Amino acid sequence: MNNFLKHKTDKGLIYYSIPNFDKTGIVKTCFTSRVGGVSRKPYNALNLGMNTDDLRENIIENFRLLCEGLEISMNDLVFSDQVHGDHIKIVKEEDIGKGIIRESDIIGVDALITNVKKIPLVTVYADCVPIFLLDPVNKVIALAHAGWRGTVLKIGKKVVRKMVETFQTNPKDCLAAIGPSIGKCCYEVDEGVISEFNKNFTNLDPFVFSKGNSKYMLDLWQANKMALEEIGILERNITISNLCTMCNRDVLFSHRGDEGITGRMAAIMEIR
Ligand SMILES: [Zn+2]
Repeated sequence: MNNFLKHKTDKGLIYYSIPNFDKTGIVKTCFTSRVGGVSRKPYNALNLGMNTDDLRENIIENFRLLCEGLEISMNDLVFSDQVHGDHIKIVKEEDIGKGIIRESDIIGVDALITNVKKIPLVTVYADCVPIFLLDPVNKVIALAHAGWRGTVLKIGKKVVRKMVETFQTNPKDCLAAIGPSIGKCCYEVDEGVISEFNKNFTNLDPFVFSKGNSKYMLDLWQANKMALEEIGILERNITISNLCTMCNRDVLFSHRGDEGITGRMAAIMEIR
């Protein structure tokens, strides 16, 4: 069952939003699909990955169509620079537009936090886990990119810790969402990945399932949820989209499913 809400813009772009977040009236949330947009194969069609080998003019046009549909300002978008690490950037007014219209000095950053209204934060994905966070009391938002490495590093938990330190966030107030990404149905990994998880997680049983032959099915959604709960996010406040990118390749980009050459979907969030 999909726990995100599906939308279609006037121009036919499909994206999802997070019902719990939307209900607060504080934020706009979006996770895009591959449907709509102008990119050609293998980036068809709504590719938002600036670092892919797709034509830049097509990527920009895709952003233009999307921002028009979402009624957000393309010129204000602020991008991360994802390197599968755990560096976190607090985005301020002076960062507005660092992405498409301005040269960016946001380097090696996998998570963005802001408490400034009308700054659309952007992170991009094709199998990795998008984590959305909202502190509705202090009006603070965050996006974090968690592939398996970011999940091992507990980047979501670290972002919440940063929100606590910087904005006096109480984790018990926070809403969290885990967006479309590769599910345990499809994400087979080997011993090397599991040994990295063993370093940072005490109990792997809830999210690692042995297949024999040193192969494992890994549930990144559950691992990220556990890390968020460790810092006090309440289970009832965590929404898991349940959308597997690899199972839904007609609608979503999947790096593994498309054998490494594919487009990127974007998580976008701004405080209204
Ligand atoms: Zn799947």
